[in-house]
Amino acid sequence: MKIKEILESEGKGQKINAKGWVRTRRGSKHVSFIALNDGSSINSIQVVAEASDFDEELVKKITTGSCISVNGKLVASKGSGQAVEILASSIEVLGTSDSEEYPLQPKKHSLEFLREKAHLRFRTNTFSAVFRLRHALNFAVHKFFNDKGFYNLHTPIITGADAEGAGEIFQVTNLDLENLPKNEEGKIDFSADFFGSKTNLTVSGQLEAELGALALGQVYTFGPTFRAENSNTSRHLSEFWMIEPEVAFADLNENMDLAEEFLKYCIQYCIENNADDLQFLDARMEEEESKLRKEDRSEMGLLERLQFVIENNFERLTYREAIDVLRNSKPNKKNKFQYPINGFGDDLQSEHERYLVEKKYKKPVIITDYPKGIKAFYMRMNEDNETVRAMDILFPTIGEIIGGSQREERLEKLKARMEEMDICQKELWWYLETRKFGTCTHSGFGLGFERLIMFVTGMKNIRDVIPFPRTPQNAEF
Ligand code: ATP
Ligand code: MN
Repeated sequence: MKIKEILESEGKGQKINAKGWVRTRRGSKHVSFIALNDGSSINSIQVVAEASDFDEELVKKITTGSCISVNGKLVASKGSGQAVEILASSIEVLGTSDSEEYPLQPKKHSLEFLREKAHLRFRTNTFSAVFRLRHALNFAVHKFFNDKGFYNLHTPIITGADAEGAGEIFQVTNLDLENLPKNEEGKIDFSADFFGSKTNLTVSGQLEAELGALALGQVYTFGPTFRAENSNTSRHLSEFWMIEPEVAFADLNENMDLAEEFLKYCIQYCIENNADDLQFLDARMEEEESKLRKEDRSEMGLLERLQFVIENNFERLTYREAIDVLRNSKPNKKNKFQYPINGFGDDLQSEHERYLVEKKYKKPVIITDYPKGIKAFYMRMNEDNETVRAMDILFPTIGEIIGGSQREERLEKLKARMEEMDICQKELWWYLETRKFGTCTHSGFGLGFERLIMFVTGMKNIRDVIPFPRTPQNAEF
């Protein structure tokens, strides 16, 4: 039986078997209390083993980290702290664990230390809760879109297109790097490469998702994306998962409505289905924050914050309005921003995003209509010829969680933008053809899956919400 099920059962003396990993064993000469966890729940089951029933040598092998199978009776617990416990009749040690060497001692370890033990960190309460929530969110994403009639589209991981034109890409090749084929001009001859052209790992599935949307109506991708940006921040990974819906006939307002409904749905799903894990993480965050200076603490606890986001409309304002608010803000006037806001054209840094979300509006903020110069080529140009139909959703503590836009569906305007931004039209001939053959209004956005998990779990470093993080200088495990 899974421990989750056992904990929900009544202890009537029924015979059961449980398997799992030992968190702790304590007790006396006469009796041992074993906390056993199998990952099905944040809670462990207490196993009671009377010394008289067990060989001393066997009991010695039941150490923190060992794996055991227990047969026994499920009974109402005499102790406080748990409703039921297993009165063991036989125990088999499936895998011993040298207690001196086992890295996860029954005490608090730092997240940095546990990152180095990523192969074992699933066995801690914090990480088991985080990864159960990651699963729940993953499931919620598919359920949300399926219920709305979207089709999940698998876009390629290896591609010739660099969607953003940002150039932060990982190249894919099977050429011998020690002995590269050269053409007459002395440049690398990519026609000799595996795919006959230069290829890279995808930075976004959007361009391909648009092709799907312009036939299937509503699609979404959910796959890994790769960015070789050398930014060692707590919010960036080199390999992360992105959800990208794309909707035909939707304009920017409908796009924002979809994004807001989607985020709220995912959070609500976790509250309904993972209450134990969230309660644990709520208490964990409270404890962590109590160590911070008062002014650095969050105003709300984790659960309170999640509820707050579900219950409130996101604040929507244009980039111009945001710049006005920021220019006239106290920190800007007092020169407290590292990047002062002067006016139109300034890119919003995370300090500005945090000011708007955490100080000014105190809720998620959607900023629209950014200057064309700081956004991608495919966003729809506004009448003013200066701004595009972009939207970014900013979340408390996370900053940007979603980036999206209404797409430029007018062939001539799209071509003109590509020219201006030096994007190769020949390479994207297939993208341009959708504007030639039956083009229409359409919109979409990209949600960084790990940023959503950070928000829901209260984890402050993105490395702690993906099983095996890939970051500059690190691809272990
Ligand atoms: P940022 O300004 O935070 O670097 P971005 O503008 O590069 O984000 P987009 O290209 O719009 O982001 O990607 C869509 C979403 O993917 C972002 O809103 C964010 O949630 C997520 N994202 C972007 N880069 C990363 C990364 N390196 N690691 C994890 N998530 C990311
Ligand atoms: Mn980025």
